[in-house]
Amino acid sequence: MELVIEGLSKTYANGVKALDNVSLRVPKGMYGLLGQNGAGKSTLMRTIATLQDADAGSIRLDGLDVLREKDAVRRRLGYLPQDFGVYPRISALDMLDHLALLKGLVHPGERRAMVGAMLERVNLFDHRKKALASFSGGMRQRFGIAQALIGNPQLLIVDEPTAGLDPGERNRFYNLLAEVGENVIVILSTHIVEDVLELCSRMAIIHQGRVLYEGEPEAAVAALAGKVWQRRVPKADLAALEAGHRVISSKMVAGQPLVHVYADTSPGDGFTPAAPGLEDVFFSRIGGLC
Ligand code: ADP
Repeated sequence: MELVIEGLSKTYANGVKALDNVSLRVPKGMYGLLGQNGAGKSTLMRTIATLQDADAGSIRLDGLDVLREKDAVRRRLGYLPQDFGVYPRISALDMLDHLALLKGLVHPGERRAMVGAMLERVNLFDHRKKALASFSGGMRQRFGIAQALIGNPQLLIVDEPTAGLDPGERNRFYNLLAEVGENVIVILSTHIVEDVLELCSRMAIIHQGRVLYEGEPEAAVAALAGKVWQRRVPKADLAALEAGHRVISSKMVAGQPLVHVYADTSPGDGFTPAAPGLEDVFFSRIGGLC
């Protein structure tokens, strides 16, 4: 099973080019789509989910033409949108039952069994009679996965699912996704580097509608070996340092900026070698440093 995207482009009516000749190969397993806000992730996700059209390009899911055979794709698709925001006062059980009916599970006995199994799977069975409106952020996202999994989709799309979750909830959500990702294609869009690091065997970095990297996170990190250097600097010296070096990132660590720069050989100036991480990959790619 494979999702193949070729030459996908989309310009909105206001002139924003949200996707610019995007090509990706997405195999079974967890695939991370990493980009800042506004990079084009949701546009790509909605297009794969058959909810909007592209101006050019193609998407194929095995033998299916995703942009044309929309009904057939929808039968194989689970989607957790970024703004999955329906949290009515009805119970998780009733809502999931209703959504399963909409997805075509018309036989009441089968539907009840499937809905129960789904609630078990996302660890919400004990909360099934509680109103969705009373759920925490993490419980809502797990419910979102349960609704996306109705009908055993081959392709699962989850758009920015960990935003707003506390660390404990995020971990529980990671574990759930990792389990799901063993059997189907899961595309996870995120601006959180850690999401990709923890979960994804393959990834793409997307920036201003373009793919800047596609491959294994480890390979991208390995390619930076020996090229990342770090130094703590007083805040007052930061601007001068940024002017003289190819700065990957500067972040506050214990109240003082820790600067990472990109250089093929030691930049001197008090810098020491740093072990590169995925965050270095992300910022050096979107900063056009490599
Ligand atoms: P991301 O999900 O990575 O934050 P989006 O796909 O939502 O990115 O947005 C990509 C770009 O397209 C942004 O500049 C955004 O403002 C713009 N955009 C998204 N949706 C629309 C729309 N319906 N009409 C016009 N511009 C849009």
